[in-house]
Amino acid sequence: MLHPGTAPLTGPRRSLRGGAPTVAGSSAARLLRLEEEHAARNYAPLPVVIATGEGAWVTDVDGRRYLDCLAAYSAVNFGHSNPRLVAAAKAQLDRITLTSRAFHHDLLGPFVTELADLAGKDMVLPMNTGAEAVETGIKVARAWGYRVKGVRPDAANIVVFGGNFHGRTTTIVGFSDDPDARDGFGPFAPGFRTVPFGDAVAAAAAIDEDTVAVLVEPIQGEAGVIVPPEDFLPELRRICTDRHVLLIADEVQSGLGRVGETFACSSWGVVPDVYLLGKALGGGILPVSAVVANRDVLGVIRPGEHGSTFGGNPLACAVGLEVIRMLATGEPQRRARELGERLLGRLSGLVGHGVTAVRGRGLWAGVDIDPEVGTGRELAERMLRRGILVKDTHGATIRLAPPLVVEAADLDWAVDELAAALVPPAG
Ligand SMILES: *Cc1c(COP(=O)(O)O)cnc(C)c1O
Repeated sequence: MLHPGTAPLTGPRRSLRGGAPTVAGSSAARLLRLEEEHAARNYAPLPVVIATGEGAWVTDVDGRRYLDCLAAYSAVNFGHSNPRLVAAAKAQLDRITLTSRAFHHDLLGPFVTELADLAGKDMVLPMNTGAEAVETGIKVARAWGYRVKGVRPDAANIVVFGGNFHGRTTTIVGFSDDPDARDGFGPFAPGFRTVPFGDAVAAAAAIDEDTVAVLVEPIQGEAGVIVPPEDFLPELRRICTDRHVLLIADEVQSGLGRVGETFACSSWGVVPDVYLLGKALGGGILPVSAVVANRDVLGVIRPGEHGSTFGGNPLACAVGLEVIRMLATGEPQRRARELGERLLGRLSGLVGHGVTAVRGRGLWAGVDIDPEVGTGRELAERMLRRGILVKDTHGATIRLAPPLVVEAADLDWAVDELAAALVPPAG
């Protein structure tokens, strides 16, 4: 059944898209068996084995096409096999890929200069994964606390928020409140205080003379695309300035175009002291992350105190530079804004028709599924059979975050298919 506000099911490239995967007997079956035998079970992926990708579409090993509405958790903001990014990577492969930071190389200077410029800050500390950027942010904040703010040795604390997701290291999961992320992995590093997300008053109350930072995702992605109250981030900014505490924005997922701005903080007019970046900074090609801040903060780190063998490598810088130059045009952000308005508008038409709530900003939506029509996982499986890749989170929510290069017509088609998938199978 079609719901009000949805177009008929005339999706583009319908003839080319997925259809029901029949894994048994295909080459996918053998590949799934290999993973089952030898890959640690730290994920529970949907049963699709992807072989190639282009733009917002991927193709599986049996030639079926799917619209990618996850975009590797926004690491693929610029689309699969983005020609500009692939060309930059290929050109650099023929030059040099790794020098270590024991020596200088000719792309680090341009990379840190242009990234600092994009963020309106002085300095960049390059790392690889998002979790490493968060860990680096924690170390920088503690060093700043002891060396600049004058916090007592080993007494520093950092205020974090309930429902947070900042990565998977033992320190980071220690201040998660998700039992799956945390339980069974202690003991954990001390020095973190959790207050409810969206509650600036609670954050202010948790700050004392030993507080060095407030660490926040401007929009909580893994928690289900939770957008805070309008005054939350501006209030946090004011509190951190008043109390001489660093505001650290984890923009690993929310940053670099996804919400229609270069940084999600900007959509509330907020400038944090420290940006943590990752995911899309590597253009979907390799892991590239960074901590970006002014000299009075990042300048506290001295030679030998922190590093990474691969951090800031020539290949990462070549791809990262191209990402920064694409963002500097404003075009990805504009697309996210315009397409996001369209997506959120159409999704809100589903509320009351198998959907209980829709949240989002830019081209990033969390859709709460009415338990009557199925779990988030069941919806993701139904969408897979319809040729669309989505990811469920926390049981009843699915996330939509297609590459920012997605075509409007493909997006409309995906929402139509979601509307159809929300009708429980007969019987
Ligand atoms: C994904 C993510 C991280 C961790 O990034 P990895 O590259 O997976 O280590 C950190 N913070 C946020 C907000 C994220 O979404």
